Amino acid sequence: MRYSRLGKSEYQVSSLGFGAMNLPGVSFEQAKEALNFALDHGINYIDTAAGYRNSEEIIGDSISHRRKEYFLATKTNKRDYASAKEEIERSLTRMKTDHVDLLQIHYVNYVNEYKQLMDDGGAYQAALEAQREGKVRFIGITGHRPELLAKWISKGQFDQVLFHLNLAQPFALNELIPQATELDMMKIAMKPLSGGFIQPVERAIRYPFSQDVHVTISGMVSVKEVQENLAAQEQDVGADERRELEELALELGGHDCRRCNYCSCPIEIPIPDVMISSKVRDKFGLLPKGNGFFDKHRDKIISCADHEPCKEKPLCEQKCPYHLPMQSVIKKAAGYYA
Ligand code: SF4
Ligand code: SF4
Repeated sequence: MRYSRLGKSEYQVSSLGFGAMNLPGVSFEQAKEALNFALDHGINYIDTAAGYRNSEEIIGDSISHRRKEYFLATKTNKRDYASAKEEIERSLTRMKTDHVDLLQIHYVNYVNEYKQLMDDGGAYQAALEAQREGKVRFIGITGHRPELLAKWISKGQFDQVLFHLNLAQPFALNELIPQATELDMMKIAMKPLSGGFIQPVERAIRYPFSQDVHVTISGMVSVKEVQENLAAQEQDVGADERRELEELALELGGHDCRRCNYCSCPIEIPIPDVMISSKVRDKFGLLPKGNGFFDKHRDKIISCADHEPCKEKPLCEQKCPYHLPMQSVIKKAAGYYA
């Protein structure tokens, strides 16, 4: 594992971060064991969010007694001052700590939401106030529109940015990461396996590790998963391997979907998951969770082609800011069931 200076924080951070999003899905004993194992083996960045069910409480109950050993990052998805202030207080209580190292404004994908949270009476004011009171050390932002994030961070109001970076979503490399580097920000990549869908696992973990980011957050729920992630980051990435991974990411990211979720489907096909896994599925197949997803949504995916209101002009495609051909990707995915 690599350690590097985490932007302006000066913290020596581990290249692997513990994503605590999925911990509420396992027993408390298993979650506690995984978190403590991670700390015992040098992981010192813990990521959660107020919105991840009882993830913050699990952290508080499992590792608050080791608070000095990790950089603690949480998120608020509130947009107004009062709700964000309340949520920050709740996060501190749940995690049994008097401060978080990083508070991220969570899941900002729309210009109007960004304006709301930055305006008077917005969530950013609550974050600044908490910072003045010593409850929050640094303020960050997360989202799924890399080019918008690049614009929003340019004014220097954020210390950190969190974005997707995986073999099927290499888009942060274009503007966002160079911009964040120039501003000496903390650069955190998430979802190396795109939510447990994509493989080959080792290459998928090594891809963001090979890039100019401080931490890759991997969502882990067991000692075994922590061990696998640690093993994949044991050796540095050389120039040849980096080039090979970058070429692969260009190919697998060819669908161009950012997971911004601007699209919606009247028959509830989870469009971004189909889009993002499409090329990985063709080339390598998917992990069991990815296959389970396609089993679960089989009927909907098959019925896309016959959905009458979309015959002339697909409803989803009218909403995509990248003008992507989602209907044809979904029709192709339906072909797998034949
Ligand atoms: S084209 Fe298919 S995926 Fe798109 S909105 Fe219509 S039914 Fe849904
Ligand atoms: S298909 Fe387009 S609108 Fe839908 S999530 Fe992907 S990029 Fe966004």
